[in-house]
Amino acid sequence: MAADVLVIGAGVAGMKASLLLASAGRRVHLIENSSVIGGRLIRCEDIFPGMECATCMVSPMQQDVLRNDLINVVTLADILSIEGSVGDFRVKIRKQASCVDPVACIGCAECWNACPIEINNEFEENLSKRKAISVPCAGALPNVPWIDREHCLRWNGDEECSLCAEACVFAAVDYTDVDSEFEITVSGIILSTGYQPSPGDMIDKFQWGIRPGVFTASEFERYYSSNGPTSGELVTKDGLKPESAAIIVHAFGTGSHSSINTMYSLKFLHYLKEKLPDIRPVVFLDASYSPDSLEDRYHQKWQAAEADIVLYTQLPEVQPICDGKKLNITCATPEGTFSAESDLLVLGTSMLPSTGTSKFIKLLGIDCTSDGFATNPEPEHSSVMTTVPGIFTAGCTGGPLDIASSVTEAAAAVGRVLADASRGGK
Ligand code: SF4
Ligand code: SF4
Repeated sequence: MAADVLVIGAGVAGMKASLLLASAGRRVHLIENSSVIGGRLIRCEDIFPGMECATCMVSPMQQDVLRNDLINVVTLADILSIEGSVGDFRVKIRKQASCVDPVACIGCAECWNACPIEINNEFEENLSKRKAISVPCAGALPNVPWIDREHCLRWNGDEECSLCAEACVFAAVDYTDVDSEFEITVSGIILSTGYQPSPGDMIDKFQWGIRPGVFTASEFERYYSSNGPTSGELVTKDGLKPESAAIIVHAFGTGSHSSINTMYSLKFLHYLKEKLPDIRPVVFLDASYSPDSLEDRYHQKWQAAEADIVLYTQLPEVQPICDGKKLNITCATPEGTFSAESDLLVLGTSMLPSTGTSKFIKLLGIDCTSDGFATNPEPEHSSVMTTVPGIFTAGCTGGPLDIASSVTEAAAAVGRVLADASRGGK
């Protein structure tokens, strides 16, 4: 039986699981698709409900993971195949060339300052630009850039370009770096592949992409963040300071919400109150959401919120007003029609399975729920099991979770992996 463990996804749950496994003496392969570790949490300024500083929580964890000799962090990596069964999974991994030597690089930024290519920065929800050689944001870890060969001139017709290498006095840029493949054997697998917010094509009806005051939850998170595109200044996308604001909770359909999605919108109310204290926001809340629900431990926060809360029975409609900057938001309520005008509108998100979650559920033959998350066959015994022995979930792979619950699940998944290993004699 193999002793190593594979953790897929280096968000907060994946990092926590890796650190716990390492503290138990297990060697961990932590595989991450992007160039940085930290997951969605590194896009956030604060963590709900206590509104603690997200960086203060995640940064020490990132550094512990990167420094731990028992944790083999592989970024820009993709899993090609997984075969075998509990105690003996054989995993083939492809590592994309970064074209930057992580040992020589000190993250000084000279290379990306020299690069002439500008493209949309997906990490910033396309609200700012990045270079063909880049890190996604200030403070990213590892603080080592990579060359995006899809956009770099050298791989697209101009082999002469070497501006980034010339700018690097540490000779860290290496155009000869190539993709590599390797195989590992592990006893167990933890899937911490996270979630993705509900898709953008559902939000056109709210004037998103048309009016500068309309934000998705992910965009608003970046606008609020001190390392985001406006350095934390809450303005509309054309730079105006809003005088009124609204939030549509569950903007992706009545009845499809979980208490986590509701809670996430409450966080945006806190952001608005913090940065725009003179504004009393209007919050459009699904009337089927029960503020007395025992399942929602945050419902009292909604009741105490300093906002006008409107319970809607049909999703609000959003129309521009004359000059196109202000928005008119109208909805049906149990008492009749309600309308409000607003400069800024935040669209509450639903958490959906990430691309990685969908991919691994299929690759590993794991049963999934009607929402596409991994099915838990024995929820009464464990929150982290899947229908395949030896494979466990942590974080949002098994359904929407908050940060605290994700960390708790990571510990539970580690417990199951270690229990399996001890049964197998390792
Ligand atoms: S590759 Fe060189 S120039 Fe770029 S950040 Fe690293 S050390 Fe600085
Ligand atoms: S080779 Fe040129 S285009 Fe490519 S990353 Fe470097 S500076 Fe940018």
